[in-house]
Amino acid sequence: MKFPLINIHTHKPCAEHALCISNFFPDDFRENNKKHSGFFSAGIHPWYIKDEETLEKQLKLLDEIISHSNCLAIGEAGLDKVTKSDWDLQERAFIEQIKISEKTGKPMIIHCVKAWDEILKLRKQQKPTVAWIIHGFSSSEQMAQQLLDAGCLLSFGKMIMNSDSKAAKVLMNLNSDEFFLETDDEDIGIDQIYKKAAEFRKISVDELKEKINVNFEKVFKTILN
Ligand SMILES: [Zn+2]
Repeated sequence: MKFPLINIHTHKPCAEHALCISNFFPDDFRENNKKHSGFFSAGIHPWYIKDEETLEKQLKLLDEIISHSNCLAIGEAGLDKVTKSDWDLQERAFIEQIKISEKTGKPMIIHCVKAWDEILKLRKQQKPTVAWIIHGFSSSEQMAQQLLDAGCLLSFGKMIMNSDSKAAKVLMNLNSDEFFLETDDEDIGIDQIYKKAAEFRKISVDELKEKINVNFEKVFKTILN
């Protein structure tokens, strides 16, 4: 059986023969809602949180689009300590999106910049039942382990192309095959990321494709059926 390349998070057009979860930001919702035929995720990114009023509108829009059958996940959503967006509003937006994710059973695709402790704390507080996929993971092996212990999944992107990067080290030493791969907004093919990841995992690209398909089935099974 031939398994497709799965790109768990991208902002660019999906490569042929790949299965992608394309990311939508709130402003994309309306224009793309009707015409979108591929799988997508929709969420309020911490970069685009302006004020309370805008957030309310974005949450309403999100609530509408989330029921679309091609919408597989909420996100990207999360916490970012480097962006200028108000921290309290970021937390509120994230918690509201966790609630939507729980209500619909659709997993979260998480953006996290320098806010690992807060993400872990919220995971413990909110006790979500759906999967949280930490996209573009790039932190220490210790942090990777803490996130995995808390029930999160990791997704790796272009960072792994540099073998000395933290992301590459984590992927090389990960004691589990439960992870995803992505291109995010980078100019790189998902096939290149697979090739590198297969090299690090010391398996063939075909074996890697099969493993990631198993992970995908497991996480998105209830939504796809
Ligand atoms: Zn992204």
